[in-house]
Amino acid sequence: MKRLAILGSTGSIGEQTLDVVVGHPDRFKVVSLAAGRRVDRLVEQARQFKPRVVSVVDPAEVPAIQSALGKEVEVVAGDAGLIAVATEAADLVVAGLVGAVGLNPVLAAIRAGHSIGLANKEVMVMAGAMVRREAELHGVDIIPIDSEHSAIFQCLVGSRTSEVERLILTCSGGPFRTWSTTQIEAATVEQALAHPNWSMGDKISIDSATLMNKGLEVIEARWLFDVPAERVDVVVHPQSIVHSLVEYCDRSVMAQLGLPDMRVPIAVALAYPNRIELDLPRLDLAELGRLDFEQPDREKFPCLGLAYRAVSGSEAAPAVLNAANEVAVAAFLERRIRFLAIAALNEAVLESHLADHRGESVDTLEAVLEADAWARGAANEWLAKRDATTDFGSATASA
Ligand code: MG
Repeated sequence: MKRLAILGSTGSIGEQTLDVVVGHPDRFKVVSLAAGRRVDRLVEQARQFKPRVVSVVDPAEVPAIQSALGKEVEVVAGDAGLIAVATEAADLVVAGLVGAVGLNPVLAAIRAGHSIGLANKEVMVMAGAMVRREAELHGVDIIPIDSEHSAIFQCLVGSRTSEVERLILTCSGGPFRTWSTTQIEAATVEQALAHPNWSMGDKISIDSATLMNKGLEVIEARWLFDVPAERVDVVVHPQSIVHSLVEYCDRSVMAQLGLPDMRVPIAVALAYPNRIELDLPRLDLAELGRLDFEQPDREKFPCLGLAYRAVSGSEAAPAVLNAANEVAVAAFLERRIRFLAIAALNEAVLESHLADHRGESVDTLEAVLEADAWARGAANEWLAKRDATTDFGSATASA
């Protein structure tokens, strides 16, 4: 019986993880769940899966949840709640939070000796070197749940890092792949959220539309697999059937294919080193007929290039870019800025960081969080100036 802790249980990854668990009650036992603000859903999950600990964001919610669940379940809240869920005795912690908030609980889980199923890519983006080091020190596996990285993980089974020439991440291209820049300029929140292949949370859907998601995944791959970013390539593959590839030194290329469904990479992580059955539709290549590939358009989608610039720019730069992007995406979702302003904000904050902090290293959590906080401040300043000088505040009306 594998004991599971789930960070972000009411989010997209958390729900799909529980869906896999339901199909294999003899293999997995849920021991702890951390949710955000969807308290009613957390209570339903706790009744169904009977964890020992559950956590929510707001401490004010604790008494009501406690009385709904009874004394057998410990109800905790806030940052301490996330740590409690992450460090509850478990064999695998599914890190399904979104954004910088997931870093501290993942580090705590690693230090408690728990292996990680990592969907929360910002953890590797912000602090890849440190997380790698900690995982080695504590002898824990970090098994990617991001579909591309799960594909690479699967393609690497049984091989040596020294034999790997290139990692090739596939990218759907997002909903604006075939749009002109003029069309993209007027893109609405709803259009940006409409991902062609994957069903995901809001933040990652916007990141897929800007290609920042792929940029973050390049950084994530660099640290997960210890391959320099210049040997991580991106190819656009609109059908999202080939989930990523590994090129070896003998020019053999391994790919992992499947219909786009996050339950597959989740099941790979949950069952590793075994595989478990999933009752999902089969990939039928003859029915598909063709698979297409093209170069990403880095001019139309500058966020991809920003990620390469960050990963080679300074040790803190990926954390800076990630934080700026979180602020930018939130502002876009709130309809404070237009779609193309996300990349503009990200670039302004990254360049400002690189101008002053190029040589700085980040080897502590505090240093990472400092870079993150600096970038959020710089991003909010940028937004305040924008609000004061342009009509971007009325993006909804004009879109
Ligand atoms: Mg992905």
